[in-house]
Amino acid sequence: MQGQHKHINLNPAIELLEIPPGYLNTMGYVEESEVNGPGCRAVIWVQGCLRECPGCYNPDSWSFEMNQLVSVEHLVERILANPKHEGVTFSGGEPFWQAPALAHLAQQVKAHGLNVMSFTGFTLERLQSDYGPAGAQDLIDQLDLLIDGAYVESLAVHDPHSLVSSSNQRVHVFNPALEDRLNWASDQIEVHVLKDGSRIVTGYYGQLVDNELHAGD
Ligand code: SF4
Repeated sequence: MQGQHKHINLNPAIELLEIPPGYLNTMGYVEESEVNGPGCRAVIWVQGCLRECPGCYNPDSWSFEMNQLVSVEHLVERILANPKHEGVTFSGGEPFWQAPALAHLAQQVKAHGLNVMSFTGFTLERLQSDYGPAGAQDLIDQLDLLIDGAYVESLAVHDPHSLVSSSNQRVHVFNPALEDRLNWASDQIEVHVLKDGSRIVTGYYGQLVDNELHAGD
């Protein structure tokens, strides 16, 4: 996530308009992750981010071109079909560029008792200002946890006791019940072997690496 000094184009609207209502343009999805928030979680990586942070873990997530178009309905079904899930985490890419659809998804999984966490390159203050992305407050209203702030490479932290990947980032706990569940660490990674044999490596705060695409990472 990029430093605050960089000029950010706040209008990716043309590309976002291509996403039909009720759908998300995603980069990836994984189940039963234990390194992207408290407990066992589904993780959704959305496609599209404008910040181009040096050292970004997911540069393939920057483009707003259509990647995997998935309906909110379908994702909700998948998340709820796995009884191990206690929550869902939104990462990216920038989740708040697709805030309305994510808010809708969050509302539905929360109705079934799951908690919801999101990363964002925006600060909470920016999200709540007149310059925040459309629907930002609706998504914030659904969140139990928010990790905010751009990733700043010079402030990177890889520490077993750190909840954030760069020291400028903040953990906002909106649900006090999760206050004692802040037990993930910025130096953890996890490897998922999918049914088709491909692997997904995740951790380091929202990192998503498909080994077939990023063999050198
Ligand atoms: S995905 Fe995160 S780290 Fe990467 S450019 Fe966007 S805000 Fe920065």
